[in-house]
Amino acid sequence: MEQIKNYIDGKWIDSRSGETFPSINPARKDEVVGVVARSREEDIEDAVKAARGAYEGWRLFPAPRRGEILFRAAEMLLKNKEALGRLETREMGKILPEGLGDVQEAIDMGYYMAGEGRRLSGETVPSELPDKDMKSIRIPIGVFGLITPWNFPIAIPAWKVFPALICGNTVVFKPSSETSACAAKFVEILAEAGLPKGVLNLVHGPGGEIGELLATHPGVDAVSFTGSFDVGSRLEGICGSIHRPIVTEMGGKNIILVMEDADVDLAVEGALWGGFGTSGQRCTAASRIGVHKKIYDAFTEKFRTAASRLRVGDGLKKGVDMGPVVNESQLKKVLKYIEIGKEEGATLILGGKIYDEGECSKGYFVEPTIFTEVTPEMRIAREEIFGPVACVIKTEDLRDAIRIANETPYGLSSAIYTRNVNDTAVAERDLDFGIVYVNASTIGAEIQLPFGGIKRSGYGRKEAGGRGGALDTYSRWKVIYRDFSGRLQKAQIDR
Ligand code: NAP
Repeated sequence: MEQIKNYIDGKWIDSRSGETFPSINPARKDEVVGVVARSREEDIEDAVKAARGAYEGWRLFPAPRRGEILFRAAEMLLKNKEALGRLETREMGKILPEGLGDVQEAIDMGYYMAGEGRRLSGETVPSELPDKDMKSIRIPIGVFGLITPWNFPIAIPAWKVFPALICGNTVVFKPSSETSACAAKFVEILAEAGLPKGVLNLVHGPGGEIGELLATHPGVDAVSFTGSFDVGSRLEGICGSIHRPIVTEMGGKNIILVMEDADVDLAVEGALWGGFGTSGQRCTAASRIGVHKKIYDAFTEKFRTAASRLRVGDGLKKGVDMGPVVNESQLKKVLKYIEIGKEEGATLILGGKIYDEGECSKGYFVEPTIFTEVTPEMRIAREEIFGPVACVIKTEDLRDAIRIANETPYGLSSAIYTRNVNDTAVAERDLDFGIVYVNASTIGAEIQLPFGGIKRSGYGRKEAGGRGGALDTYSRWKVIYRDFSGRLQKAQIDR
C-alpha cells in the first residue's frame, strides 16, 4: 500500500502523530489508492517554519534560475503524464483523457511560468522633475498558504504553485483530502526538479482543521483558496479580519445559451461536454442550458438522445464517457438535488438514479440526468449541484436569455451558441460572468489568460494568465523614486 507522506523542509515524513487516513478509488470503493498522513497543528507549525526559513534564500534567488527549475518540473510532468493521468482517474474518478488533460494544463502552466522568470516586468515612466527616475517592481509577498479542491488534482495546484514560486514566494500547500496521492506526486516532481528545501511544503489532512490553521497562521502572509463558496467565504471573512490578502475561486452555476439560429448539433455536443464532463464536477460545468423557445423541443430531444448514449463506468476503461462522482457525500448531494428538482415540478427526461450496472455497483456512479421545464427560480437552477445533472430552461429571446443567465448568485462561466454576430457582441458585453465562450461550451479555459469568476464564484485577484492574472495575485508592486539631482525637489510644487 502506498504511503502518502507530508513533505516538509525537503523531507518526506509521517505526520507527527503518526495518524493516517485512506484515499479511496471512487469507481471501486474497496480499492485504497494510498494511506495518507493525517496532520494536525504541529505539522502545520513545522511546514510554516520551513517555508519561512527558506523564504529569504528563495526571494533572493534570481527569477530566471527559479524559472529553470520550473521548466525542468514541466519537462518531468510531461514525461510522467500518462502515469499521473491514470493516478487522477484512480483517485478521483475522471476519465483518463480528462486526467491527461488535467496534467497537460499543469505542464502548460509550468512552461508558461518558467518563461515569466525572465520577464516579471514592472514599469519605468518619466518623472515630472529633472534628474529623477521612477519605476515599479514586482516583489514576492512571502509565505503563501495554498488550499486546493479535488476536481483538478494536479492542474489547480499547478495554477497556484508555479506562479507563487516564480514570483519568489515560498509555499505551504494543503490539498484536498480526496486527492492526496496526486498532490504528493506533483510535489515530488517539483522537488526532484531541484527546488531548495523548505521552498515548497506539503501537508495533508482535514481542511476544517488544518486548512483553517494554515490560513490563519501568523507565519503565513497570504492565502490562495479554490473550493466551495461556504469554505471560501468563511476564509475571506477570517483573513479580512486579520488583514491578510486572500484570493478565492469558488463555485459556479454556469449556463449555455442556445439561440434560435444556433447550430443545434454543435450546441448539443457542447451541452454534453459541459454538463457531463468530469461527471458535472467542474466549477465551469454547464449545469443550465437556456434554449430559445423555437428550438426548445428539437434541442431537448437531441440532447436527451445523445446523453442516453453516454457510457458510464470506470474512467480507466476505453470507451467510457463518464466516471463516478468523487465520494459518498457527493453522491448523496446529487441525489438530493434530483429529488428537489422533482419536487419543484421540473420534468425528469433522463436518468435520476444511482447507476449500478455490473462493476459500477462498486462505485459512486449516478446516471446522466436531464431536467426540462426548469424555471429560473427553482433551486436546481440557482444552486451548484456539482454532478451530472443538466437543467434545460426555455428562453424567449436574447434579452430574456441573458437575464436568466445572470439571475444566479454565481458568475463563473457562460456560453452562447448563435450565428448572429451582433448577438455575440451583446452577450460578450452583458453576460455577468468571468468567462464568456462563443460557440463553445462553458469549459476549456487556457492558462495564458486570467481565470476566475465574480459574485459568489470568486473574490480578489485572478488565477492563471500573466499580468492582470496570476502574476498580480502572487506578487505585489513596490514603487521606487530615485532623485539624482542632489537637491530637494518637490513633486507637484517645483514646476
Ligand atoms: P471544499 O470542500 O470547499 O474544499 C476545498 C479545499 O478546502 C480542500 O482542500 C478542503 O480540505 C479545504 N477545506 C475544507 N474546509 C476548510 C476550512 N474550514 N478551512 C480551510 N480549508 C478547508 O471544496 P471541494 O469539495 O474540494 O471542491 C468543490 C468546490 O470547488 C466546488 O464548489 C467547485 O465549484 C469549486 N471549484 C472552483 C474552482 C474555480 O476555479 N472557481 C475550481 C475547481 C473547483 P478537505 O478536502 O480536507 O476537506
